Amino acid sequence: MSDCIFCKIVSGDMGTSFLHEDEFCVAFDDINPKADTHVLIVCKKHIPSIADMVEGDEKIVGHMINCAKDIAAKKGLAGYKLQFNVGEAGGQEIFHLHLHLLSNSG
Ligand code: AMP
Repeated sequence: MSDCIFCKIVSGDMGTSFLHEDEFCVAFDDINPKADTHVLIVCKKHIPSIADMVEGDEKIVGHMINCAKDIAAKKGLAGYKLQFNVGEAGGQEIFHLHLHLLSNSG
């Protein structure tokens, strides 16, 4: 989607430095971190939110969680939170599915 900031980041148009990239997702540091470590894992497919998942998307979402786990391990985090904000009322600001990896124990 041409007007989606995360689609632009995923495509490389924004020159964002990725901590991780594979077939299904990318990961990069949040621009406005809410913890010492705040990484966003963003799927390449434009799924607006968890509420818009269709059959088959669970493979992508499961993969994103696995990536978050691997990034946390690489960073040596002792503990962390994984968070999906869903819908405006759930605190979601960007309607392109992403997983927050948050930790103050790095
Ligand atoms: P959410 O509220 O779940 O939609 O989270 C969106 C997150 O994206 C927020 O934590 C923002 O700080 C972050 N964000 C917005 N624009 C950028 C950007 N260009 N690069 C990195 N993170 C961003």
